[in-house]
Amino acid sequence: MSDSRRHLVIIGGGPAGTQAATTAASKGGRVTLIEKEIVGGAAHLWDCIPSKTMAASALRHSSVRNAAKLGLSTEPTRVDTGVLAERIRVITGDINRNWLELLDSQAVDVVSGHGRFVSDHEVIVETESGERRIGFDRAMVSTGSAPRVPDWAPVDGERVLTTRDCYDLDEVPEHVVIIGSGVTGVEFTHIFESLGSKVSLVVSRRQILPLRDAEVAAVLEEDFIERGVHLAFGARAEKIDVDGSGISVFCDDGRILHGSHALLAVGSVPLTDRIGLEEAGIAASNGYIEVDEYQRTSVPHIYAAGDVTGQMPLSSVASMQGRKIARHALDLPVTPLDYSKVAEAIFTEPEIASVGLVDVEAAAQGRKVRTMKVPFAANARSVLQHFTRGFVKLTSDPATGVVLGGTIVGHRASELIGVLTLAVQADVTVKQLVETLMAHPTMTEAISDAAE
Ligand SMILES: Cc1cc2nc3c(=O)[nH]c(=O)nc-3n(C[C@H](O)[C@H](O)[C@H](O)COP(=O)(O)OP(=O)(O)OC[C@H]3O[C@@H](n4cnc5c(N)ncnc54)[C@H](O)[C@@H]3O)c2cc1C
Repeated sequence: MSDSRRHLVIIGGGPAGTQAATTAASKGGRVTLIEKEIVGGAAHLWDCIPSKTMAASALRHSSVRNAAKLGLSTEPTRVDTGVLAERIRVITGDINRNWLELLDSQAVDVVSGHGRFVSDHEVIVETESGERRIGFDRAMVSTGSAPRVPDWAPVDGERVLTTRDCYDLDEVPEHVVIIGSGVTGVEFTHIFESLGSKVSLVVSRRQILPLRDAEVAAVLEEDFIERGVHLAFGARAEKIDVDGSGISVFCDDGRILHGSHALLAVGSVPLTDRIGLEEAGIAASNGYIEVDEYQRTSVPHIYAAGDVTGQMPLSSVASMQGRKIARHALDLPVTPLDYSKVAEAIFTEPEIASVGLVDVEAAAQGRKVRTMKVPFAANARSVLQHFTRGFVKLTSDPATGVVLGGTIVGHRASELIGVLTLAVQADVTVKQLVETLMAHPTMTEAISDAAE
């Protein structure tokens, strides 16, 4: 008996692909998910999950190192990279298994292999047992991205690394020179320094996190400097030499930074070659697939989501785009994603998180906002936990009092931002935030205090 359900074929099983698959299957669609490596995607194998698993060990290690400040004496600690690597393998393996079980329970056809379009209604998958042709009514591209490797960087996975080489190192590197001070660069600066490495960070501009508010970056810079991280401001790496004892990073201003390892954190490139975009007639610009507000490509029955679109390269955004595509592909009601209300977090210590319209963006747009700020040094829980660095900063509409956005720099800011995200999403007013009685003593009190 032929299957009359609408058939959605998805190439790439990361957050975008898996979420689209389970949503479409639960809404009555027939789904084929093509994945060449691991279901769960780069997000689970290489990016979010392993880096945050390492960050969890890093945070515990730095807590132990600083325990004396809380009246605890400890023996010298040792980092066992083997245990750390095994923990990452177990966690990513579990996530992969859970996804496969869920997809199986929803009768999603998971095909292992490299998928590519051969026309605007058919893909070919190169599987271990040969080629398989699959026709579709709707399709979605979610093939993700990979670390950018400049042609001057001799990446070997031993001394010159990308982030993907960091999860299975034999030992904690003695001295890592990290090239790139965006989100990935600062997260790995925090991780390696906390695990005991000496870290030098090549910062091409005058501040780390160049896309962020200078006040926010300054808190982290101060923290890094206190921890002994060398910040090489205004230096652009252009060559790496590897010799027997380590690496040397040569910068455009003549500076040379020596270390045991170099780590590249200079962005990513979309994985859109060899997937038949031309054969399907899908338009792309610099490798990124062009999409409209419903994630439709130039071929309206083919969608794209996640890092391949170059929109907001976050796992959370990719997942939401995938869910929305599934609904749209099945002609169910769906609203476009509002990117202005997406919460973002940087998992350093202190963490940095923001949502909505923050004061610097408002100023750049010439929009009048009210800004309220409270330092964590004035918050009881922060003081007693010995995490006093950072602040909560809110912006609101001076006419209506509606909370427009905010930034939190501090311990567990990635969790605290949830309160503000809900406030921004639900158009909560400053007055309502003030009247919200938070538990005491907690760091969430800093949010209502800022509103006050
Ligand atoms: C170090 C690092 C840490 C990060 N941490 C966070 C974080 O904490 N929070 C956050 O929100 N975001 C984080 N990100 C970003 C996040 O990882 C990406 O935004 C997310 O992975 C994008 O999801 P995706 O579905 O587009 O693609 P991916 O997760 O990249 O998945 C794409 C999948 O497609 C498969 N594929 C590719 N080509 C083909 C093909 N031709 N056929 C079949 N399969 C194919 C790949 O094997 C892969 O499994 C981090 C990124 C990095 C680099």
